[in-house]
Amino acid sequence: MELRKDPITRSWVITGDDPAESGPRPESACRFCADAAYSHQVIAVTPNTPGAAWSARSVVHPTPLYHIEGEPGRRGDGIYDRMHSVGAHEVLIENPRHDRHLWNASDEEIAHFLRLAAERILDLKRDPRIKYVSLFKDYGKNAGQEFGHPTSQITATMFVPRRVLYELRAGREYFVSKERCVFCDIIQQEERQAQRVIEARGDYLAVCPYAPRVPYETWILPRNHDASFERTGLNKPGLRMNLAALLRRTLQRVRTITEEFHLVLHTSPSSLHPSKNLGYWKTIDDDYHWHIEILPVVTSKARSYTFKEVYYSPVSSETAVKQLRAAKIDG
Ligand SMILES: [Zn+2]
Ligand SMILES: [Zn+2]
Ligand SMILES: [Zn+2]
Repeated sequence: MELRKDPITRSWVITGDDPAESGPRPESACRFCADAAYSHQVIAVTPNTPGAAWSARSVVHPTPLYHIEGEPGRRGDGIYDRMHSVGAHEVLIENPRHDRHLWNASDEEIAHFLRLAAERILDLKRDPRIKYVSLFKDYGKNAGQEFGHPTSQITATMFVPRRVLYELRAGREYFVSKERCVFCDIIQQEERQAQRVIEARGDYLAVCPYAPRVPYETWILPRNHDASFERTGLNKPGLRMNLAALLRRTLQRVRTITEEFHLVLHTSPSSLHPSKNLGYWKTIDDDYHWHIEILPVVTSKARSYTFKEVYYSPVSSETAVKQLRAAKIDG
């Protein structure tokens, strides 16, 4: 597998003929359960919870898309750019138990997972080759779920993924003209209008965005400006508990609509080695604002409008928020 850059959109894609993709993986006993016989290359573990050896842990992905060894070997190919898929690919086991998900685990357990995620992002960002660390979760068959066990995944790449790049550029442009963070402005207006806010909890807000890409799209953001998740995630346990509770409650709401979803964390890229010609690095702490995006998969409404050239979402955020607010959740 290798990375190739689309010269028009400037986005990197990972491509190649992977023999592992030729058929479904054989189903066997869960390899991620606390009592599994499978031996993992464990990278990090959060402190024990009573009755368990660990509360969340990070292991190397069994079939990683990115490998930590080697040099990127970035090179031209005529007008094109390519490089080896150097980076990191980890599975974050959210809970030792097979049935404890981010929507039914305790806030404490979810907070442990959030802390582990923050630690891994911070650690991977110390590698000077790494430009961006993604945390994501795909749940459900139509979302491309890979494992039965409650897991999220982390990829560390030598490029910034396209969507984040758009956000960084847009955040910077907005800041240049207004000297304000666009996300902070969104939060202020949403709190004032109270039309698309699902719930506020401590320092965090769950909202349906004004222009959703899919029905019931939901964002979770810190109400106070902060460019990087891993800073908050590590330093303040109280914040972590509020975020855990809001994440749990929001996923419960989403699951009253559909069980399947994508979840992705957008945080600031590594600023260890700022690029000289990419301007967004200079003001990132002021103009970027970390957030979690939840993209529910509602197959009955998934009319793909001209192949996602334009997003088509047949449920307005004002309607979505009413349903999500009124959803019966556990507590
Ligand atoms: Zn399991
Ligand atoms: Zn902000
Ligand atoms: Zn985003």
